[in-house]
Amino acid sequence: MKKLALHWQIVIALGLGFGWAFLASSLGWASLTDNWIDPFGEIFLRLLKLIAVPLVAVSVIRGVASLSDIRRLGRLGFRTLMLYLVTTVMAVSLGLLLVNLIQPGSMIDQDQRLRNRARYEAWVARTDGVETLDGRQITQPQASAAVGEEVVDAKVAKGLQTMEATREQGPLQPLVDVIPENLFGAFTDAAMLQIIAFAVLFGIAMVLVPSDRTKAMADLLSATDDVLLKMVDMVMKAAPFFVFCLVAGKVGGLAGNDPSRLGAIFQSLGWYSLTVVLGLVLMIFVIYPLIIRTFRRDMTVGQFFRGMAPAQMLAFSSSSSAATLPVTMECVHDNLGVRKETVGFVLPIGATVNMDGTSLYQAVAVVFLAQFHMVDLSLMQQVTIVLTATLASIGAAAVPSAGLVTMILVMQSVGLNPAWISFIVPVDRLLDMGRTVVNVTGDAVVCSAVDKWTN
Ligand code: ASP
Repeated sequence: MKKLALHWQIVIALGLGFGWAFLASSLGWASLTDNWIDPFGEIFLRLLKLIAVPLVAVSVIRGVASLSDIRRLGRLGFRTLMLYLVTTVMAVSLGLLLVNLIQPGSMIDQDQRLRNRARYEAWVARTDGVETLDGRQITQPQASAAVGEEVVDAKVAKGLQTMEATREQGPLQPLVDVIPENLFGAFTDAAMLQIIAFAVLFGIAMVLVPSDRTKAMADLLSATDDVLLKMVDMVMKAAPFFVFCLVAGKVGGLAGNDPSRLGAIFQSLGWYSLTVVLGLVLMIFVIYPLIIRTFRRDMTVGQFFRGMAPAQMLAFSSSSSAATLPVTMECVHDNLGVRKETVGFVLPIGATVNMDGTSLYQAVAVVFLAQFHMVDLSLMQQVTIVLTATLASIGAAAVPSAGLVTMILVMQSVGLNPAWISFIVPVDRLLDMGRTVVNVTGDAVVCSAVDKWTN
């Protein structure tokens, strides 16, 4: 009998995971799921992240070292960053368009919105904001003032503190942070950009040293790459089981022993979530196919999706582009036929800085929260959102809920109270699953496009 394709096995595992989460919470088995199923999901994520760090280092070094002409690296890098930026701006703009058309924040009970507006005005007055009634002239409130004013989710409160610390640093600090002081420190923190920076330098140096001196090193790197990819294969053999555990554990964790909690989560922010999901669906089924059709005439959109399915499923169940990276690299190389040196260079950077789903979600969420508090955002403020959501998505780590935290930056840039983010925390995990699929798909689209473009 023909074996079911891996992505179908994972789809079934996903369904079973959701089913188990509902069943277990109805039967009061939350702690059973927590103690005996969820840990396997964690093991899966750890295994993938464990492979991701050395894999990125080795692939980037090999990718750069194989570009015998350093100028090609510059061209590849420039085009990659350009396409990453263009797709992110497209995603934010799409998000803004949808949230302004659908107006999910206005569909909430008027009395509650009026009360929110009153609290907002009190907050602006307390933080020395000067504001006209139509919300135009708002000075930048201090983030710290928001803490304690409302019930602030722990994650949001921690993010506020980090943002406050970052604000005190100079504008070039992010650039300084890309260069590691200590390579092992970069590995320990799994600081992808730092690892990539080291690997690029190392790769360039390898090109400059005569090849007879670096042959042994090149062979070792090539063998290490093969072994790491074999490890990915081994882990992926058990992916259906692990995905079941991951979804059962995470969704079960949201429901606890009360399945109606899940229903309530879906209902309470229905229109907002639908707007985000619609945006994500349009990115995947309209925008990306257009880019694929433009750059990859040798491949149909169907082939692209079939090839990417395992990585997409994994992104959905793990909510982490970083954990999905080893599988994304395999799918893009093996199934989409993208050259190894392009995969090794473009995807690790993409997993770290290119997050179309996250930026779209941030744009929708910020405008939704403004509508929910009866604050009109001017055109200029919406343009500011395009800018800051792009930056905030670049700054978000490729781990669950990172986008929720960096959204504080976007809220602050248009003078809104970052503490409001607590309102959307309950649905965040579910939306995170969807936006991570878009993040991973966007990286693969750009990688395929750039590969053809630089060929
Ligand atoms: N979970 C997302 C990712 O890993 C980031 C985010 O939007 O929170 O790509």
